[in-house]
Amino acid sequence: MPELTPRTVLITGGNRGIGFAIAQAFIALGHRVAVTARSGAGPEGAMTVRADVTDAAAVDAAYSEVEAALGPIEVVVANAGITRDTLMLRMSEDDFDAVVDTNLGGSFRVVKRALKGMIKARHGRIVFISSISGLYGNPGQVNYSASKAGLIGMARSITRELGSRGITANVVAPGFIETDMTAELPEAQTAEYKRAIPAGRYGTASEVAGVVTWIASDDAAYISGAVIPVDGGLGMGH
Ligand code: NDP
Repeated sequence: MPELTPRTVLITGGNRGIGFAIAQAFIALGHRVAVTARSGAGPEGAMTVRADVTDAAAVDAAYSEVEAALGPIEVVVANAGITRDTLMLRMSEDDFDAVVDTNLGGSFRVVKRALKGMIKARHGRIVFISSISGLYGNPGQVNYSASKAGLIGMARSITRELGSRGITANVVAPGFIETDMTAELPEAQTAEYKRAIPAGRYGTASEVAGVVTWIASDDAAYISGAVIPVDGGLGMGH
């Protein structure tokens, strides 16, 4: 086994759910890990910095704090995200803008801030946490699906802009994962989703985290612009 090179990793929204599990997985592998959080803190062993991804100045300040403590950021995981589900006929401009500004705009801000350092280092791993909804569509999630599909275009354009600089940009698309986000869904809807998932169950945050650490590893250096589903087979072919 080749020896693992410890990297400085930043994960947005690392105080709970999938982001927390991703931080734990990078720490377990021996990387230097920082998380952004609006409240609470990341797992033991992670540096926590305050940042709202809708605020470019806050993102910039968080990066500077992490770089001063842990060195240049070589891996960024754009994980922070929200839902504001409702059918399109009832969806307000505000419901649309808030979700797109957090999920898509927030990812743009955190990745943009990381690029200069990655170009200088000639090494970088960008991982976007999208969703099966971005590929498959989902009633009640026009805003969310559009924001998550947008991440695919973002990753692929970054790949074309910076692929020759040792930088990869990939998308991980979870299906239904047990977190606060899915705990909000009505019981009948949850049962219906579980019937549709070939695996017959929701996934766990650590099952997403394992894929994220791998796509950010040196072993995955020749994979970029890819969309990797982690969905128990729900979206096959999408
Ligand atoms: P949670 O609701 O459990 O956590 C969301 C995280 O995002 C929290 O850390 C939250 O911080 C953070 N966040 C939200 N808005 C902002 C903001 N404006 N600035 C900074 N941080 C913010 O969700 P999950 O862990 O389930 O989801 C994580 C990612 O995975 C999301 O992008 C989600 O869309 C995606 N996903 C989740 C799936 C699932 O089934 N759970 C399926 C597919 C994709 P705070 O605690 O401060 O609110």
